[in-house]
Amino acid sequence: MNSIAENIRAIRSRMAAAAEAAGRDPGEILLVGASKMNGADACRAAVAAGIDALGENRGQEMTAKLAESAYDGAPLHFIGHLQRNKVRQVVGTVSLIHSVGSWPLLEEIQRQAERRELTQEVLLEVNVGGEESKSGFAPEAVYEAAERAKALGNIRVRGLMTIPPIQREPHGNLPFFAKIARLYVDISRNLYDNEFTYLSMGMSDDFEDAIAAGATVVRVGSAIFGHRQYH
Ligand SMILES: *Cc1c(COP(=O)(O)O)cnc(C)c1O
Repeated sequence: MNSIAENIRAIRSRMAAAAEAAGRDPGEILLVGASKMNGADACRAAVAAGIDALGENRGQEMTAKLAESAYDGAPLHFIGHLQRNKVRQVVGTVSLIHSVGSWPLLEEIQRQAERRELTQEVLLEVNVGGEESKSGFAPEAVYEAAERAKALGNIRVRGLMTIPPIQREPHGNLPFFAKIARLYVDISRNLYDNEFTYLSMGMSDDFEDAIAAGATVVRVGSAIFGHRQYH
């Protein structure tokens, strides 16, 4: 099996090739390691290999790994489904929350950030496939949510995130990625003075297509850490 460092090197070169093929600067695309279910040693190896950030899915797992200094040396992001009663664990602990998919969640993040007197950076999650099982704003609703969020004084929206439906066909996600990329440009230009930075889309199986469509952040788990052992 390849080491984490070798995997990261291989992914970086595939990212660069995908960026160049799309006429983009590879330097503008961040690699976030999706480290759920991988231990502190694996996280430290990814940090040592120069990962741009690590992303966790569960507050409890993140808290335990923080106690082991798993993330020292790299920014920490939250990428998983966030329950309102877990917001307190995450606000101020992570530099970016990717997965903010409802208005009540935005309000709770605002409440906790205000209490702690900090500004929390977030991405709005878009449920691009309209799937019941997934959270996120409907594509038709995210523009208005981004507009309303400007009134929340302790939140700064930095972009959008999406997880498209599982595809069977190669490149099946491209239309979904393209749709969210258009929304991202639109909202950034019309509401945020072109200051959006993060378009978070693409995982192990489709990050090259996400880059072709305009992703500036890819979240890669198994291609870095190996297949996860679910118990
Ligand atoms: C696990 C996870 C990923 C990475 O998935 P892989 O297919 O293992 O690369 C990306 N984003 C989110 C939100 C995840 O939960």
